[in-house]
Amino acid sequence: MSQLWSKLVHKLEPYVPGEQPKITNLIKLNTNENPYGPSPKVLDALKTEAADTLRLYPDPNSDQLKQTIADYYSVEPKQVFVGNGSDEVLAHAFQALLKHDKPILYPDITYSFYPVYCGLYQIEYETIPLADDFTINIENYKKPNGGIIFPNPNAPTGVGLALEAIKQLLDNNTDSVVIVDEAYIDFGGETAISLVDQYPNLLVIQTLSKSRSLAGLRLGFAIGNEQLIAGLERVKNSFNSYPIDRFASTGAIAAFEDEEYFQTTKQQILNTRAKLITGLESLGFEVLPSQANFVFARHPSKDAISISQSLRDKGIIVRHFAKPRIDQFIRITIGTKAECEALIKCLSSI
Ligand SMILES: *Cc1c(COP(=O)(O)O)cnc(C)c1O
Repeated sequence: MSQLWSKLVHKLEPYVPGEQPKITNLIKLNTNENPYGPSPKVLDALKTEAADTLRLYPDPNSDQLKQTIADYYSVEPKQVFVGNGSDEVLAHAFQALLKHDKPILYPDITYSFYPVYCGLYQIEYETIPLADDFTINIENYKKPNGGIIFPNPNAPTGVGLALEAIKQLLDNNTDSVVIVDEAYIDFGGETAISLVDQYPNLLVIQTLSKSRSLAGLRLGFAIGNEQLIAGLERVKNSFNSYPIDRFASTGAIAAFEDEEYFQTTKQQILNTRAKLITGLESLGFEVLPSQANFVFARHPSKDAISISQSLRDKGIIVRHFAKPRIDQFIRITIGTKAECEALIKCLSSI
């Protein structure tokens, strides 16, 4: 009955998320989830919430959660927007802030949801090639545009952009919105949140899915000038009044309150990343410098698809992207120390 679809639906090319296997006991290194559970304090808070108030709608404005995030990053609550995962925050940002007459700009190799939102909201875009070493060259963004968006560190490469370069990019581009998607910033990059008071056209988006182990809770947020946030609120309130349910709000607040757990688990992931890189390099892999909770690696002689397939046969899933320039890479999420050792052992036998 697809003749009942709108014209737009016929044209959509939806995002395809990494596999969430239905069978257990696989080593799952394909979607950049945190290998450690969320803070025990988050779990306690969720239990209390479950016993309490589910009969009632949540706060449509998520005031308490915004206050918590604002306090954590030393900004004002009116500079904070929250959404059902940062994917939802991104979706609203594309519609509210990036849909103009001129095309938006983003890297040729980047988060593959960006072209999907452009399709959904009918936004023109132009991709700017990364340099040969997979870094973003901000000189190439000096052209008329309807907005600029990129992840920092970039996905799926893990390569970071220095704060100084982001500042220069903002200085070169004052007339349209610049969005920095910081899904992985806690793993070694430098956040641009410190720049939002200075640059009214800067929006920084983060998520609790990766560094705070809450991918299943769905909570993302944006920080920027209050006018940008007001634009996002207009779209949100024209779409869904209650995107943040009581669990998401309670769990997210508890996560920000347990700094020690956050720092400890993050450090473990950084330690494992360093070991994994050494292991991969000793097997001959080229590994891009990573500021994320994953690495992007290629082997000079073994084909990436056949490596992923052999790993899969042995119960380890990694991610492969069948795209120009990166089809010989595999992306490996940093798991536990034991998972990464199992990966290295498996790769040696291949
Ligand atoms: C994971 C990811 C997101 C989305 O995270 P949510 O789970 O929707 O919060 C956004 N941007 C990039 C670059 C990501 O890798």
